[in-house]
Amino acid sequence: MREALVELIRENARLQCLCSGQLAQLEATLGSLREAVLIINGDNAILLANKAFMAIFPQANATPGRRIERVLHSVAFLEYVGAVRSGGAPARQEIKIISAGDSFEEGARWLEISGAKIPAADGTAGTWALFVLHDVTHQKKLEAVRKEFVANVSHELRTPLSVITSAAETLADGHAAMPIADRARFLGIIQRHAVRLASLLNDLLTLSRLESHDSGLHLERVSLQVLVSSFLEDCRARPAAAGRQITADIASNIGELWLDPLKIVQVLENLFDNALKYTPAGSAISLTACLHNQAPDKVELRVQDNGPGIPAADLPHIFERFYRVDKGRSRETGGTGLGLSIVKHIVQLHGGHATASSNHGKGTTFTLVFPIGGGNSLPTAP
Ligand code: ADP
Repeated sequence: MREALVELIRENARLQCLCSGQLAQLEATLGSLREAVLIINGDNAILLANKAFMAIFPQANATPGRRIERVLHSVAFLEYVGAVRSGGAPARQEIKIISAGDSFEEGARWLEISGAKIPAADGTAGTWALFVLHDVTHQKKLEAVRKEFVANVSHELRTPLSVITSAAETLADGHAAMPIADRARFLGIIQRHAVRLASLLNDLLTLSRLESHDSGLHLERVSLQVLVSSFLEDCRARPAAAGRQITADIASNIGELWLDPLKIVQVLENLFDNALKYTPAGSAISLTACLHNQAPDKVELRVQDNGPGIPAADLPHIFERFYRVDKGRSRETGGTGLGLSIVKHIVQLHGGHATASSNHGKGTTFTLVFPIGGGNSLPTAP
């Protein structure tokens, strides 16, 4: 009896040793995987949880050997474990996890899990289960941004399209009996909204090119002084600029910069278009450029106006696609809501950044900071 007991304890120790040896080996192999891995025994006790798993469920770290029901407070995950045990689980399942204390969307994480029963490595008849979790939060967020963008684009296109359609229908049905002045009015509506559609499509195409792999950035050595004065000459000639005070001051110590001149002119056009659109007649618009006071390898360019400004609550959003402070006013003046987004992208492509500040009621300042040498996009110097 004693010998049998000793033999049983010896066998048990050998199995435990084998088991912990195998788990240690597994841990060494799975520890550095990007995927989160969890192995539980037949009683749902945690046998192995790698680093990636513990990054998702930090509770699993402090309590190895405890039952998962006690440490993982995710009903969706526990239901999946149950389904794997009963053999009815789908090969992959997406679950959403919200960490305690986090606000609903900010703390939400999406995981794609797959699991399978595996034979117990300690030689017992029980069955273990292995789970692999893939964090797909980033893809989910991108998908949400894409869906929102498509919804916004559809909405923006629908308005001018439906105006064009109904004006065209009215003309088609009644032009014979319609007074000439009414015909001209409907044709004018069609023309205005067709122009609006065209500028929306142009801006969308520009944005999509800027965001694509080949953004088409062509850097050249450019004199900012020359670029700005030719831009301002064109700008002052526009009817909208009449009666405005448009000034420029480019510091003389700024040498030539590596820029894509066409794209930088587009940035200035978008900023000046806005300044002309959103400030009343007689306002002042200034463009200044100097070396950055903390980083002399950078240039700081400012476009400032003394118009109505932008409310503080809107400022953090104005570089977002389709964001407008006053939707009606923007559309009325032919705005697409994409101008500042294009500005931000072009400046970023040059390795710089764009910010806006405003004193509500007193004006708006857009500040662009560029590296003199063109940032990472610099081609091999000739
Ligand atoms: P939009 O085509 O509507 O002008 P933008 O992306 O160029 O789109 O600008 C976004 C919004 O920022 C505008 O709708 C407007 O409300 C606000 N905005 C931009 N520039 C100015 C400015 N200089 N003064 C006041 N508001 C401005």
